[in-house]
Amino acid sequence: MGSPSTATLWWVRRDFRLADNPALQAAIAGGEAVLPLFVLNPAMLRKAGPVRSEWLMASLAALDADLAASGGPGLSVVQGRPTEVVPRVAQQVSASSVHISADFAPYGRSRDAAVSTAVGAVGVELVATGSPYGVAPGTLKNKSGSAFQVFTPYWRAWSDHGVNAPAAAVDPFTVQWLAAADRATPEAVEPELVERAGEQAATRRWHQWLDRDRAGVDDYVDLHNLPGVDATSRLSIPLKWGQLHPRTVLADLAKHQSKGAAGLAREIAWRDFFAEVLFYRPDAITKPIRPEFAAMPTDDPGSDPQAAQRLQAWQQGRTGFPLVDAGMRQMLADGWMHNRIRLVTASFLIKDLHIGWEHGADWFMNCLRDGDIPQNQLNWQWVAGCGTDAAPFFRVFNPTGQATKFDPDGDYIRRYVPELADVAPQYLHEPWTAPGGAPAGYPEPIVDHATERKEALRRYELIKGG
Ligand SMILES: Cc1cc2nc3c(=O)[nH]c(=O)nc-3n(C[C@H](O)[C@H](O)[C@H](O)COP(=O)(O)OP(=O)(O)OC[C@H]3O[C@@H](n4cnc5c(N)ncnc54)[C@H](O)[C@@H]3O)c2cc1C
Repeated sequence: MGSPSTATLWWVRRDFRLADNPALQAAIAGGEAVLPLFVLNPAMLRKAGPVRSEWLMASLAALDADLAASGGPGLSVVQGRPTEVVPRVAQQVSASSVHISADFAPYGRSRDAAVSTAVGAVGVELVATGSPYGVAPGTLKNKSGSAFQVFTPYWRAWSDHGVNAPAAAVDPFTVQWLAAADRATPEAVEPELVERAGEQAATRRWHQWLDRDRAGVDDYVDLHNLPGVDATSRLSIPLKWGQLHPRTVLADLAKHQSKGAAGLAREIAWRDFFAEVLFYRPDAITKPIRPEFAAMPTDDPGSDPQAAQRLQAWQQGRTGFPLVDAGMRQMLADGWMHNRIRLVTASFLIKDLHIGWEHGADWFMNCLRDGDIPQNQLNWQWVAGCGTDAAPFFRVFNPTGQATKFDPDGDYIRRYVPELADVAPQYLHEPWTAPGGAPAGYPEPIVDHATERKEALRRYELIKGG
């Protein structure tokens, strides 16, 4: 086949899949040759930290392999700034348009506006089709025509609006794929990780979970708070990177018609809600949505050595509170943490250690494979009581009470805190009460919860109603 006179670019950012992909569909709709492009911006990669960078590399390699298996040269990974790379590659192949899935977070929006101008200057159009969400931010309005601030009415409107059916499958063998002249050789990644990061593995794992007899979708509502049972979907990583789209997930859930399936769909709506909130409040990445919380006195690890030590103990899972430590160590070991334990560990940092939520959010972004600005920052604000529709600040989790309630047999704690593996059940949640104290190597509690709870409420009184 001779070289085409026109082509399109499919510029991949976080939608690493071939199925249910409206932006890819739009790129191939005109029958032109398609160049699948990923722009690797070294500055952004440094900011992402090692955990997300590794998963990005694995995701790139997996999509590259899937595209190569479809008879093409694979994914073109080109290094540089998007405003320079995208117009240059578009010109290389005489592309008429560049297709993307819309980005709604602050950095993505300003990047896309700048790239739209840059490609426009060389006569190429940037076309956004679809989004990473079930219902894209900015779609829903309340009765007075403004954005929703509260989840439950948002969720009702979200349910009434409905989510589109998955996009029709494309046959990659019918597409003429192109490659960029200056494509880089992606960094080598362990084949096992590449396999796990791919679209097919994500789809397989999701279906296996849906089909499980126990601790699968139908038990979700009853079991999802128990970290020792492993009863959640683990969708957050493929949803973050786009190996699965929420449309596909919601269409699969609709076939189940169970309490568990409805409960999981509601969680997916929370994901859309937080993206919506950040869309209207881009400053919420760093600033509390409820302004009075800007005056909350916190202990600053930057200037207070005790706060720095406590932050480090929390980060490394060495607080002496078994459930908190298990969660922080799960995140270090697996790049993922169970939701209930994210709530407990976040609350502990904010209300037992009095350290600002932004420090915790930064650490989570550094350690989580699913680390995602809208979900992470707004969940942190939710726990800190300063977000929209957030948990009231005065509701302080007791880390021991949470452990006895949600990990009663200690399966989760024993899995991640080996020093406690042989502690008798009656002492597991408070190992400092065991005869002879906590086992060697496991720290004493770094604070007294009852004292710090009072201190948190005292500080809250200072800003309440402010
Ligand atoms: C402090 C804190 C930080 C968090 N940071 C992130 C983050 O960076 N990225 C991220 O994807 N999630 C984040 N979450 C939300 C939640 O903890 C994870 O999405 C969930 O634990 C992932 O596991 P799962 O896929 O098995 O969840 P499941 O319970 O199976 O839920 C299915 C999906 O619903 C969505 N969902 C569930 N709970 C929430 C929630 N509270 N907020 C928004 N969406 C939700 C997720 O997309 C999740 O994959 C955070 C929560 C807290 C409390």
